[in-house]
This record gives sequence, C-alpha cells and structure tokens, in this order.
Amino acid sequence: MTFKSFNPPERILMGPGPSQVSARVLSALARPTIGHLDPEFVRMMDEVKSLLQYAFKTKNEFTIALSAPGSAGMEACFVNLVERGDKVIVCRNGVFGGRMVENVTRLGAEAIIVDSPWGRAVEIDKVQAALDANPDAKFLAFVHAETSTGAVSDAKTLCKMAQDNDCLTIVDAVTSLGGVELRVDDWGIDAIYSGTQKCMSCVPGISPVSFSDKAVAVAKNRKTPIQSWFLDQTLVMAYWGGAGKRSYHHTAPVNSLYALHESLLMVQEEGIENAWARHRAQHESLAKGLKKLGIEFIVPEDERLPQLNTIHIPEGADDAKVRSYLLEHYNLEIGAGLGDLAGKAWRIGLMGHTAQSENVALCLAALEDALNQ
Ligand SMILES: *Cc1c(COP(=O)(O)O)cnc(C)c1O
Repeated sequence: MTFKSFNPPERILMGPGPSQVSARVLSALARPTIGHLDPEFVRMMDEVKSLLQYAFKTKNEFTIALSAPGSAGMEACFVNLVERGDKVIVCRNGVFGGRMVENVTRLGAEAIIVDSPWGRAVEIDKVQAALDANPDAKFLAFVHAETSTGAVSDAKTLCKMAQDNDCLTIVDAVTSLGGVELRVDDWGIDAIYSGTQKCMSCVPGISPVSFSDKAVAVAKNRKTPIQSWFLDQTLVMAYWGGAGKRSYHHTAPVNSLYALHESLLMVQEEGIENAWARHRAQHESLAKGLKKLGIEFIVPEDERLPQLNTIHIPEGADDAKVRSYLLEHYNLEIGAGLGDLAGKAWRIGLMGHTAQSENVALCLAALEDALNQ
C-alpha cells in the first residue's frame, strides 16, 4: 500500500476546541527548527514567559508553557502540590471537575466533592459550607470555564473564600484564558493551568501554567517526592528559569512554541481586555440569531460562557445527522454534548480567532439550513 502526504480539509472549527488557527500562527510553526538550548530559542522562551504573564495578568516568576496538553497542566498542578492524605475541596459541575476529583484520589489524597448542577456555575454557598466543615482542607480546586456545559464560575469570589480559609487555589483556566476576564494576581490564584487550542487559537499540545510564590514553596517543601518525574515543576523550573543558565530537562516542542509566541503576540496586539469584549460581542450576536431560530441555551444568561455556547438540540432534530450535515456541506464543526449532556446538547465554540462575525453568520445560516433539511 502506498501513502501520500496528508492534506487536511479546511474546516471552520466551532466546537469546544481546537479553535481556528490563523495563517499567521501556522506560518510561525513552519519556521526552521533550531536547538531548544540555542540562545535565540532561549530568548524567545523568555518572551513567551512575559507574554503569558501578560495574558494571565500575573507577575508570577514561575509562569511557563508546559510541553503537553491541558490535561497535563491539570495533572502538574495536583501532582506537585497535593500530598497523600491532604484534603482537597473539589468543585464539580461538569466533566473537568470530575477529572480533578480523579487526580486527587489517585494521589491518595482526600477529595471533598462539592457538586453543583451541570449547566450551572459552582454554587458559592455549598463551597462555603464545605470550607466551614473542613477547616483542615489545604486546597480549593475548581474549573473557571466548564467547557462540557458552557458555564462560567465566579473565580474571584471562590479565591477570596479560599484565602479567608487558608486554602491554596488550583484553577482550571483551559477555556477561560483569553475568552473571559481572568486576573491571576488580583484574585490571588495559586496554581493555574490553561491550554493553547481554545481561546489562544494556537495549535494543541501545550499547557500554560503559572504558580504563585506560595505554590512554588509548597512544591519545594513537600514531605514526599513529587510522584511524576516529567511533571515535577521544581525540575522544569531549571529549564524555564531566568538568569542565563538552562539545564536540559526534556526537548521542548520548538516549533509549537514559535506558534504559541505568535498567538500570544496577537493577543497582546489586540489587548486582552479587547479580546474578552470581542468574545462577548460575538456571543451576543450568536445568541440573538439562535433565539430567532427558536433554539434555547442550557445555561442561564448570567452564567454563560461567551466562548462556549451550549444549546438544547431542537425537538425532532437528529444530533449526529445535523452535525455531519454541517461538516459535509459547510465544512463546519460544532461540538456534541459531553457526559450528562450527550445527545441532548450542541456546543458552539466561539474561541479565540473563531470569534468573528463571519463565523457567527455562517453558523446561523448553516444551522437553519440543516434544521430545514
Ligand atoms: C479542553 C479542556 C481540558 C483538557 O485540555 P486538553 O488540551 O484536551 O488536554 C481541561 N479542562 C478544560 C476546562 C478544558 O476545556
């Protein structure tokens, strides 16, 4: 059997990620590969770090791009900070909160689970009750933007509550970074991870991570060794660390980091507050169009993520058929429901570069056509 080069179709990516990657970012990816300890590459890594600090709104010295997808960023936060026997309050209002629970229990730590309904924000009162009932809890973990349901949680309030109860916060910002307001330092987030393929509109496979000085101290002063060698951030610090000397830890995904550098530059050129506003404006115009089509949202208005719109599948419409019609006739990908929402919802992503008027218009027209067929 003979094989040919793979030429992917050109799709419009309006699912839960990856989002559209601009030609500018793709062309950065195609630049010559250089050594990962080349002084020019190291200089670029320093810029990636500064640009990530800008996007996260943090001065955290430990701010890096982890060489693995968002799930590895999640695991890095838990495996570095949480020790066997620690109590971790985990908020669960969708798939990704469930994965946090899995991370905690696999480490031999105790997960105090605070469940909130799928499609809703994390319930603040329930979290306060869990904090009151567990004064020995060391961490509060939650997902800022639950991509499985399209709900945004009040990260600022949750972080304040954690601080008042001497808990460190572990925050999933995979879908929130670049799409909605996020202020790591102002809100006092201790450990945060994101992904490149959602509102950063970069290629998948990298996870921006940032630790506060407090979190770094916890990782450095553990009683037990960090169970994962690859994700041990105290080792990674020597690779990403400032002040000249870099020691080999692993080979960074050189070209993917060029792409991340370019996408972060684009975020900075636009201004992150403007990016938040663009996501909001495109979401509003999509919501208006969906209303005209008689399609309803799952999440109440003030808890909706602009970058991930979860809608009820209209009565009589065939979930899989509609999605394959959109792909076949419009090259348009929208997301299926996940977990509890499988077969009941569609997820329309307006992440990063995807959040443009022309995509909103296309999606509405294509959906109308598909539903009429
Ligand atoms: C996508 C996503 C992840 C996982 O990221 P991967 O890059 O797919 O590993 C984690 N949390 C949330 C909220 C996500 O949306």
